[in-house]
Amino acid sequence: MTDHIITFNAGSSSIKFALFSVGADDLLQRAAAGQVDGLGGDARLEAKAADGRVLHDAAAPAGKLNNERDALAAILALMQARFPQLRLAAVGHRVVHGASRFSTATLIDATMLATLRTLVPLAPLHLPNNIAAIEATRRAFPGVPQVACFDTAFHRGGGFLREAYALPRDYFDAGIRRYGFHGLSYEYIAGRLAELSPREAAGRVIVAHLGNGASMCALRGGQSIDTTMGFSALDGLPMGTRCGAIDPGVLLHLIETHGYEAARLSDLLYKESGLKGLSGISHDMRELEASDDPRAGEAIAYFCTRVRREAGALAASLGGVDAFVFTGGIGENSGRVRAEVLAGLEWLGIAFDRDAQPEGREDRVVSVPGSQARAWVIATDEEAMIARHALRVIRAGAQGAITPSIPARHTDASLP
Ligand code: ADP
Repeated sequence: MTDHIITFNAGSSSIKFALFSVGADDLLQRAAAGQVDGLGGDARLEAKAADGRVLHDAAAPAGKLNNERDALAAILALMQARFPQLRLAAVGHRVVHGASRFSTATLIDATMLATLRTLVPLAPLHLPNNIAAIEATRRAFPGVPQVACFDTAFHRGGGFLREAYALPRDYFDAGIRRYGFHGLSYEYIAGRLAELSPREAAGRVIVAHLGNGASMCALRGGQSIDTTMGFSALDGLPMGTRCGAIDPGVLLHLIETHGYEAARLSDLLYKESGLKGLSGISHDMRELEASDDPRAGEAIAYFCTRVRREAGALAASLGGVDAFVFTGGIGENSGRVRAEVLAGLEWLGIAFDRDAQPEGREDRVVSVPGSQARAWVIATDEEAMIARHALRVIRAGAQGAITPSIPARHTDASLP
């Protein structure tokens, strides 16, 4: 039998998973990945082996895969059938929010789960899905250690100046802070760049994680020192359907003058804005690039303008830039977006030639030789990061640190 680690990333109606084998010296090797979509409706289970072979791709029979527990059991049964040597050593969960309580990946037990439930008001759209997946895993595979890996953890440690909003201090104490997200991606990229170019990784690096969700991070010596997302995953860049940074006065106006309520505002900001709202066509960059509608081009130009603007802000936080990394579905695949972004960043010392941009699937340098600061394309792998954390936590055999931190009450009720 071979030890394996499975990772889960639970959304509102989907669960993505990846399976890793644990080899000699604890080297993790991806064996398979896939997802269940349409949970609770017309569910479908897809899985591919690491070499791209389709292991399964079929709609579930009616009445099957109604909930997370069914989905997790179906995923594990499929993996056990395809990998008969599989022994499950741990499950790693991507958890969107750890607030100031969790500054590292943490073994899940009843106390930890209770703490996590108190954080739901901070991420009401996402944390309940993560918690449901954890509970379902506990029931489906009792006795298998589970590890929560937080998207916020990598950004912790910045202290008051970095994390506070300029509200009265009580709000900071009540948990109204800049947390930052996409931390698992940034942590992976920091590690990967250190393998590819230790000198650059030790310096000042801007990472642009551009996908349906999009944010940017300033890394100094591999540590996050600034990021564009804040209290929620709405801040910073415009995204597929999210608005990015917005004057809070707009929200007050919509509430006071147009009678908007929380649910309507939430739909507007999370689901109807960003590339989708700007273009009126699609949230999807590929579709926008394929369209000759001028609104599509304008949405792309808007997106790139905001990436450049945030790059300037992060460069100021870092005091200069030694490397710039593109990652995420758009960052890894859209030569057009990279070109539009970098065409405005020569002043940072990044020399870029649109025509000489090397294509390919490999992690690679896309700036021209001799560029003072280099631009990279590096494929992110959040699942690998989750699996590494899960393995580290079970090897340590101890619970990860629950930061004993500043008292944070984390519920709206406790606001001053
Ligand atoms: P998520 O935040 O959901 O993980 P991804 O990182 O998968 O998102 O990124 C999805 C985005 O990447 C979509 O806008 C998609 O159109 C874009 N994308 C994927 N491939 C390409 C491509 N070849 N060219 C341009 N955009 C692409």
